[in-house]
Amino acid sequence: MPVRLGELRGVIALDGPSGTGKSTVARRLAVTLGAGYLDTGAMYRAVTLAVLRAGVATDDEQAVSSVAEHVDLQVSTDPEHQEILLGGENVGTEIRGQAVTLAVSAVSAVAPVRAQLVAWQMRIIDEVCEERGGIVVEGRDIGTVVAPDAALKVYLTASSDARAKRRSLQDSASGRVVSLDETKQDVDRRDRLDSGRTTSPLQPADDAVWLDTTHLDLEGVLAEIMALVDERDLHGVAAGR
Ligand code: C5P
Repeated sequence: MPVRLGELRGVIALDGPSGTGKSTVARRLAVTLGAGYLDTGAMYRAVTLAVLRAGVATDDEQAVSSVAEHVDLQVSTDPEHQEILLGGENVGTEIRGQAVTLAVSAVSAVAPVRAQLVAWQMRIIDEVCEERGGIVVEGRDIGTVVAPDAALKVYLTASSDARAKRRSLQDSASGRVVSLDETKQDVDRRDRLDSGRTTSPLQPADDAVWLDTTHLDLEGVLAEIMALVDERDLHGVAAGR
């Protein structure tokens, strides 16, 4: 798919459980459309790493909120150069490790943590839309809470087996050795926690388009979403339309 700089107007919200291919799809879409990209899961993961490093128990909501309030975090919105800095240190690999993955759902269920990150995400989205015209944002509550007015909301799903397999492939590609069974248990556990929490649980927005990726490869998913972008005429002025 050719790169089309500045060709997205507004926000594309990509939500769904883990292992649906959200990150890969979101980054590729952003590159193709010359748009910004925001990985909100990486922000929750980085705060979780800060909580773990501070030696704070994840069920101590007050202490967790305090870590989140003082965290020194920088996130990149360039889809081709993803970087997340915690206190100036690139923690892109560490936030995908097992310790963070096990703790992140508990930390992200803490209401003040969400309030703080959601407000920050909204500011980033406004800035990037101003600069580049559009942004692809991925997470769990983008279409419902962070960007309820998004021009396009897509809710990605896939069978639990397919999601565990994808996660497992990603893990091995990054040199992490985890059995498929363990990965499946983790994916299911996180879905339960993310869907069951009180504050902005994982749920599709009423106006989201559902896309089941179980039997689609990356190109297939991209083609479906690009068709929606075309259909809704979300191409920016910069594209000469
Ligand atoms: O997308 P990823 O798997 O990296 O997200 C890690 C975790 O961050 C999720 O399991 C969820 O607990 C939390 N999260 C969230 N809201 C978002 C994005 C991620 O609660 N918008």
